[in-house]
Amino acid sequence: MPIGLSIRRVVAILLLVLASIVARPASAATGTPLGVCILPAASDESPAALFAHPDRFDCISRQTDHGGGDYWALSQPLSTATPPQALLRQASLWQQRTTLYVLYADGAIRHTGYTSATAGRHLMLGAIIQLALPPHHARPVRLLWHIEGSLNRRGILIGPTIVAPSTAARTEVEMAALYAAFAGMCLSLLIYNLALWAALRQAFQPAYCLMVLCLLGYAFTSSGLLGQLTDIDNNDRQRLNYVLLAWSAAAAMVFARAFLERRVFDGWLRPYSNAVVAFLLLATGSYALFAPRFADITDPLSTTGYVLVLTWLVPVLVRAWRRRSNYLWVFALAWGAPVALAGVRVLAAFNFIGWQLWIDNSTLLAMALEAALSSLGVAYRIRLLSLERDEAREQEIAARLLAATDPLTGLLNRRAFLDDAIGRTQDHQLVLIDIDHFKSINETIGHDGGDEVLRVIARALRSSASPEALVARVGGEEFAMLAPADRPLDAGAVLDALRRERMPFDLTVTASIGTCIGPMTREVDWKAMYRCADRALFEAKAAGRDRVRNGIARAA
Ligand code: GH3
Ligand code: MG
Ligand code: MG
Repeated sequence: MPIGLSIRRVVAILLLVLASIVARPASAATGTPLGVCILPAASDESPAALFAHPDRFDCISRQTDHGGGDYWALSQPLSTATPPQALLRQASLWQQRTTLYVLYADGAIRHTGYTSATAGRHLMLGAIIQLALPPHHARPVRLLWHIEGSLNRRGILIGPTIVAPSTAARTEVEMAALYAAFAGMCLSLLIYNLALWAALRQAFQPAYCLMVLCLLGYAFTSSGLLGQLTDIDNNDRQRLNYVLLAWSAAAAMVFARAFLERRVFDGWLRPYSNAVVAFLLLATGSYALFAPRFADITDPLSTTGYVLVLTWLVPVLVRAWRRRSNYLWVFALAWGAPVALAGVRVLAAFNFIGWQLWIDNSTLLAMALEAALSSLGVAYRIRLLSLERDEAREQEIAARLLAATDPLTGLLNRRAFLDDAIGRTQDHQLVLIDIDHFKSINETIGHDGGDEVLRVIARALRSSASPEALVARVGGEEFAMLAPADRPLDAGAVLDALRRERMPFDLTVTASIGTCIGPMTREVDWKAMYRCADRALFEAKAAGRDRVRNGIARAA
């Protein structure tokens, strides 16, 4: 199967390219990552006092163990090579206000910061908050964050990194290229699938477009581009982000349902799929709507929703395999990478592994892989559809041929003959041929022998007629031929041809022929023509058989 092979080759190349990208650490993290320690904030603390007592900070517990609230975070001492114009990059998280205090080598403390309303100005691609350290003549030695209103579902402060401005600029260009490639791919997939949908009208096509659209939306909000382009509050941006990710997952499920054969989802799996989609959308929707309220409940519920999506795949794959789905391997391939990465995300959400920037970025790559591979799946499905269509068309042609043919002789049957004959505009010649004494032929050589005589005569009639003439078996041992009146058949020659045929048991078989010429435009014309030719045939029989009589058409 050459198409299967080429799809497999394309898939292999795609996997290699993507693996090489994923294998690199997230570029947002290049620079010097900083270790941080945490202290729940009380009202009477000054940054200077906190810089003086690093021992008060908790460097051991996981950040998420502290719960939501206000916190101080203290960095490890900065490297002596840190330039004064260094930039601080950190992950964007749900919080109300962040104030960054910088301690300099001369003992000075300066501060900068942002609120969730102003974070957009500092938002870089990949949803990274980037702050310039306040300008000062001395070298920065340590950082202290005051973080207010931290939701702390993922952490209080994640991935703070000191980078040189040139590194930050290069990272931004790389991320822009990554997102632009993703957006471009999504757009082209969208356009080509919509165009295909216009032609094929298969339900899985709009489902696929919806999924790609959601992924595009998710990329737009999770990249931070939305924050850069509009004044949206950073926490609201994260609400949107959350909703769009869930919609992408739900749309992918809907697509899977429309893509795989109906039999895969028969029985309980169909209502169960609906329930999983509803649960996921409700849980993430209520998180996005109410956060930070109820986040202690809605966030784990949303994570459970994603776990349900992942486990839902198990019965789907098993069913697809057991019920011999044609699309199992494309489906498994397309979902493989996002599933593996969703698994990583779930582990991170439950804090089994630390939240890392590459997890966010590799989600984008996994989505790219899913969209691209699903699109190959769509192409594969369309190929099977076109094969099915060709087969159906061939069967239809065969069925039509069968319906038009007399099974014994292979000539046209009466109905097909009339369908073709009636309605012709010019005058035609009708030739009726009736075998003489066929009843006694049957009696002499048996019914099967009689059948063989019919076949021999049919062959002889067909080969003695011009290709344009119609030749049909219109009754038991009665045949009809129709030719244009200006190129009539020579009925005497037809009779000669029949006489020359070698019959079973060397029997002598003759026939009588009656002809007539007239119009064939309407049904009544045919009836008149038939009456006329039949009269001539009767005359031939009456005159001793084995001869031709030409009828004279009378007005109908
Ligand atoms: P005539 O010369 O007057 O035409 O005599 P005939 O015996 O040919 O005419 P008649 O119409 O009385 O008989 C036709 C016979 O053809 C009767 C029937 O058994 C036979 N017949 C009709 N269809 C078939 C068929 O498909 N196979 C065979 N073997 N016989 C058939
Ligand atoms: Mg007859
Ligand atoms: Mg007869």
